[in-house]
Amino acid sequence: MKIHGGYTPKISGKPKSNVEELPLPGVLQLSLERGGLSYKPIVKNGQKVEFGDSLAEASLNGGTLLLPSPASAKVTLIQNNGKKSLALEVSDAGIIIGKYEKFQPQRITAEKMRQALAKGGIWPLFWSSRTGEIPALTETRLPKAIIVNCILTEPFRARGKVILRRSWNRIVAGIRFLPRLLVDYGTIQIILTARHDPVARMMYVDLAGHALVRFHSVPLLYPIENPRILSQAIRKSDSSFKKDDVIWAIDVQGVEALGACLAEGLPLYQRVVAAGGPGHSSPKHLCVRIGTPVTALMSEDNKPGGGKPPESLILRGGLIRGEPVDSVTGAVQYDDDAFFFLPSAAERQFISFMRPGFDRTSYLPCFASRITGAPDRHISTMQRGEKRPCIACGLCESACPARLIPQVLHRYLYRESLDEAEKAGLNLCVNCGLCTYICPSKIELQKQFLEAREQIRLEHEEIAAAASSKSEKNENSI
Ligand code: SF4
Ligand code: SF4
Repeated sequence: MKIHGGYTPKISGKPKSNVEELPLPGVLQLSLERGGLSYKPIVKNGQKVEFGDSLAEASLNGGTLLLPSPASAKVTLIQNNGKKSLALEVSDAGIIIGKYEKFQPQRITAEKMRQALAKGGIWPLFWSSRTGEIPALTETRLPKAIIVNCILTEPFRARGKVILRRSWNRIVAGIRFLPRLLVDYGTIQIILTARHDPVARMMYVDLAGHALVRFHSVPLLYPIENPRILSQAIRKSDSSFKKDDVIWAIDVQGVEALGACLAEGLPLYQRVVAAGGPGHSSPKHLCVRIGTPVTALMSEDNKPGGGKPPESLILRGGLIRGEPVDSVTGAVQYDDDAFFFLPSAAERQFISFMRPGFDRTSYLPCFASRITGAPDRHISTMQRGEKRPCIACGLCESACPARLIPQVLHRYLYRESLDEAEKAGLNLCVNCGLCTYICPSKIELQKQFLEAREQIRLEHEEIAAAASSKSEKNENSI
């Protein structure tokens, strides 16, 4: 399977493949915002909870999603700037295998499976092509395929191969449960690297006998992990898919959690995160309990007063789509798999445009590192040059995986012409942020497109509301 455009910058600070287990900290910090939903606490201040007890709930199209406690602890409710969160003072580090009911793939019903995944905190790890978000718990249009994505290319998300090697049995167990969520004769589409890769080969050997399983090898090119890109590519590769067939997606760490939940009765309680980037003194994969403070992900050298590496901005997520996280109050949450340490702005390089760029990479082949293959060690929070107007270089267009022309969308939006932007395909943007990353003029294209789409959505809602109130009035007047 191929994608249009795409780009993976070569950056220094790639996390090592081994996974280090971090000890459980004394206090876990949990956000009550997850996947665009606000959870309401169902525990009281000072209440003692056991590992796996439900802490908070959110409703999703008629169903209820729960947040399980990652440890036995005493709960403190925190309100900060109108946002609620929980602090858990850990009383017992143990996990309780079989805390929830255990199942066998052949015996569980779809209804039971949905309930167990909603209770165990796993359901929000699914994505649906119908909504572009978490599928509804009461969804009646079942998916024709579920994509299991083992390839994460954004620098530096927890690598699929690392997760596969570490949790092979749980992942295979998880995959065996997935057909319960499908329509009859639906398929599981597994996204892997080339077949000759030893981990991929293991998967082909172990699952090749399953009639419902299909394998796809993909290039290691960002944003191949984007579920919209993957679902479009799968539709194209198989003519039996109709336009309105629903496809769901989940990544390999999600399937691992699903296997642990259904086969072993465990809630979602830990994550493997990649702590990397040029600002991390010892980039690695870490297995941490959910709620672990971000400070625990730093190496000694990264801590204030620790010495060597420069102070870093910490991004939750990878380099391209990551959002800054507070290095003091931030913590690993239920969906996290990456924390990128970006060195804070250093002094500006003198006559940098005259340098060959052995330590820099760019989408344009303008630096020597394109020949030497050396990773970028010079990247920092400092933008390379000031923001400039669009110079019509066309780089955004060649990289866009959705085959859009971002510079044209940008021009329409600059002159506030939402209609024209919509006609030019604004809604097809998959929000990958690649255009923003590579734009030499540093234009925040993705942010602009996201805001414009939201504005269009609100306008459509207003029009629909006005039309329905008009038709109600007409009915009343008859
Ligand atoms: S990459 Fe930036 S400068 Fe180049 S065409 Fe696109 S918007 Fe314009
Ligand atoms: S226009 Fe959208 S899909 Fe295309 S590169 Fe930009 S963010 Fe990605």
